[in-house]
Amino acid sequence: MTVRVGDAAQAPDFEAAAKKLLRDTQLRRNLRHATDVARKKRSLVVGETPDWQLLREAARRIKEHTMRHLDIYLQQFEESCTRAGGKVHWARDADEASRIVVDIVRAHNEKEVIKVKTMTSDEIKLNSALEAAGITPYETDLAELIIQLGGDAPSHIVAPALHRNRMEVREIFIKKMGLTQLGDTPEALAEAARLYLRERFLRVKVGVSGANFAIADTGSVCVVESEGNGRMCVSLPRVLISLIGIEKVIPRFGDLDVFLQVLPRSATGERMNPYNSIWTGVHEGDGPQEFHAVLIDNGRTGVLADPESRETLHCIRCGACLNICPVYRQTGGHAYGSTYSGPIGAIVTPQLQSMQHSQSLPYASSLCGACYEVCPVKINIPEILIHLRSKIVANGESPFSERIGMKAAGFALSNGGRLASAERFARFIQRLYERDGKLQHLPGILKGWTEYRDMPALPKESFREWWAKREKKSRETKKGTGS
Ligand code: SF4
Repeated sequence: MTVRVGDAAQAPDFEAAAKKLLRDTQLRRNLRHATDVARKKRSLVVGETPDWQLLREAARRIKEHTMRHLDIYLQQFEESCTRAGGKVHWARDADEASRIVVDIVRAHNEKEVIKVKTMTSDEIKLNSALEAAGITPYETDLAELIIQLGGDAPSHIVAPALHRNRMEVREIFIKKMGLTQLGDTPEALAEAARLYLRERFLRVKVGVSGANFAIADTGSVCVVESEGNGRMCVSLPRVLISLIGIEKVIPRFGDLDVFLQVLPRSATGERMNPYNSIWTGVHEGDGPQEFHAVLIDNGRTGVLADPESRETLHCIRCGACLNICPVYRQTGGHAYGSTYSGPIGAIVTPQLQSMQHSQSLPYASSLCGACYEVCPVKINIPEILIHLRSKIVANGESPFSERIGMKAAGFALSNGGRLASAERFARFIQRLYERDGKLQHLPGILKGWTEYRDMPALPKESFREWWAKREKKSRETKKGTGS
């Protein structure tokens, strides 16, 4: 099995990557601006929805129910889709999924595909597999096109080019589209992309999409987007291939009622996505005449098997948790070294991919809980982060300094006398580092605690010492008064 999540297996530790990215002031400016705009838009449309909390709860319940009966709903999807003229393929891992897509394209003697934005494609590294097979993939979502032409990696699950500003996009377009002049207004850039893509939309015979939802009772697939490129990709080509993570299945068509309210509000701050494409199998003379649904596991059944973190699979990839996360807002998505970034990336990547490669990710959080508050399907990300951290510790994979620190704390805390000695020693040391009641710039392995923040100093005496003194005084008073 080749479970793969983008390039996460080769990525450096979060901490090392974040340190480097924190020095990029332009990136941080772009990030702050883009996430501020996204948060403002979301809070406006969420604020005007009086039953928002009920919608969240409904979404959570549908997902929880689906995951409990995932086997049944996946088979139901297969039956419904096949009945409607589609063909369903099952892929255990990234390589198998890519092989299925390459084989379908080759069977039609085609050398190009047009693509709708799909994180699952990035996850399995489909573009590399297509290129290795001599097939050219064209990304048609504006942000994905910027990423592809710039030889870059996505940094946000909804807005993959969020780290780029307009001038940078203009430079990429001029260089890669062979333009001699180009304005830097959003209209000019969108027009350049439109002209570049339009001819490909009409020429290329195979389309590749992801899926926001795969509907079990009808066998339909739903993709929501804002640009209309998705609609072109799923309706113009002769052959359509949809990559569907197995967690994307929902039981009934009617469940879309809930998800099509919570997803756009959380993702792009819109009441409704401008384009909601839903198709079911094939129809003679209308749209693609061949439809393939590739159901991809790639580590998901492993996540499903853990009851404490299973709800990770409820994610509808709205990106709201990224925009609110104080860590993501500083470092951006590239620090996570994976297709999935931010709080959801910190829990999904280590679970899909071996923890060995991504064990720094569960620590990429302040555990402030903001991600849980905004999540439209109420995934308790902080609890899952703690669960993953405990797994790392149980596997003996926590950092050496942390293991030593915990052992020392365990030794001192398990005995009152030892704790008192440790406190006296700590108070002696703190005289050297205390400034205005705060500990600053501690040495050695404690440096990490005080490098960027102050730590409150220990009180002059512990509660036990204060109590012992009080008791002694009261005894002496009693003795003195003879009572
Ligand atoms: S975890 Fe929740 S908030 Fe984050 S992307 Fe997934 S659905 Fe959205």
